[in-house]
Amino acid sequence: MAKVRGAIVVDTVTCKGCSLCVVACPTDVIELAVDVNAKGYNYAYMKNPDACTGCANCAMVCPDSCITVYRVKAEAAV
Ligand code: SF4
Ligand code: SF4
Repeated sequence: MAKVRGAIVVDTVTCKGCSLCVVACPTDVIELAVDVNAKGYNYAYMKNPDACTGCANCAMVCPDSCITVYRVKAEAAV
């Protein structure tokens, strides 16, 4: 099982689908959803959560502070 090192939570209500976080992620974690939020924007989500390192690039570039980054200690290999 993949070690979880980072995770993001996107506020899908305030996300305006600008894609800045998609471009900023060095490990290609984020994609815009096919679904839209109440304002009609395709919101960001983790398409590849195992690749998240918790680097917080995405949160830093988001103009609306929609992204919260969590860092999780990797568990020892079994
Ligand atoms: S914290 Fe870093 S690795 Fe994780 S989704 Fe954001 S930019 Fe990508
Ligand atoms: S940078 Fe922020 S507003 Fe833009 S798509 Fe990502 S989460 Fe949404």
